[in-house]
Amino acid sequence: MKIGIVGAGQVGASAAYAIALLGTVREIILIDLDPAMAAAQAEDISHATPFASATHVRKGGYGDLASAKVVIIAAGVSQKPGETRLDLLARNAEVFRAVTSEVLTHAPEAILLIASNPVDIMTGVTQRLTGLPAHRVIGSGTILDTARFRVLLGQHLNIDPRSVHAYVLGEHGDSEVLSWSSAAVGASLYADVALANGKPVTNAVREKIDDGVRRAAYRIIEGKGATYYGIGAGLARLVAAIGGDERSVHSVSIMTPDVEGVKDVPLSLPRVLGKNGVLGDVMPEISADERLGLRASAELLKDTLEAVKV
Ligand code: ADP
Repeated sequence: MKIGIVGAGQVGASAAYAIALLGTVREIILIDLDPAMAAAQAEDISHATPFASATHVRKGGYGDLASAKVVIIAAGVSQKPGETRLDLLARNAEVFRAVTSEVLTHAPEAILLIASNPVDIMTGVTQRLTGLPAHRVIGSGTILDTARFRVLLGQHLNIDPRSVHAYVLGEHGDSEVLSWSSAAVGASLYADVALANGKPVTNAVREKIDDGVRRAAYRIIEGKGATYYGIGAGLARLVAAIGGDERSVHSVSIMTPDVEGVKDVPLSLPRVLGKNGVLGDVMPEISADERLGLRASAELLKDTLEAVKV
């Protein structure tokens, strides 16, 4: 399988690196406005492949995307001094208009994986710009928040995070909802496992985990300027799920017809991923409070999306 990555900055390159290490694709094409950056990242990552896989990694142009099954879009421009968040969004929407038009000219069947932030809005914008069906325009959404939730709950319970089944719903951002009410370890409610292991999840523990998930990006950015390894690995996992037609469940963002009464809004719910993109949702039973939180998150995203002119 061939895939493309547009935007070979920290997120795009980390995704390429993780995909090359996983070895689930044959060829990765890196495209960037700065071709020297794309070439350097491709060369560096290709030197990791003898230790891991037979993946070819190279710099390319849009013409090299022919027959690519998945194209990750991790391109973006950063905020100028004095620029509002909405101005920045409008500028990024214009970048996406140009990028997606090129991508779809050369790879009309590709599934688009959106990684640029604010990822839910960029996913909604891309779906509107391209007119593609919603199941083919997939934002990385809360995959990282979900991973952070599982790591922290797993650490508290001393359980492998891969055996913690817990999801963050809604926006990838401040209004996201940690679904404690549906969190499970194996097939048991997390609270039962916590009690049995002598590690009760008190209100204080919950608040600490909630804060740990919600503020992770702020802390990492304070310490090292940006976050990229976690999202890179998450994007590699999504590529594997799509490429392998896995039908595995991931909390990704797509335009969703109705969320708690809010219509046509891009946000994350647990969804089944396979070769055609999102195949369906597996919405857990959640508490009344979490439903209110999800509705508020959906309303906020809907209002922002409506404010972006595309
Ligand atoms: P991040 O941390 O999100 O990866 P970076 O600034 O490191 O942010 O990377 C963003 C990348 O996107 C840069 O390498 C930049 O050159 C690239 N980029 C910006 N606009 C475009 C565009 N129109 N087409 C392709 N790449 C672009």
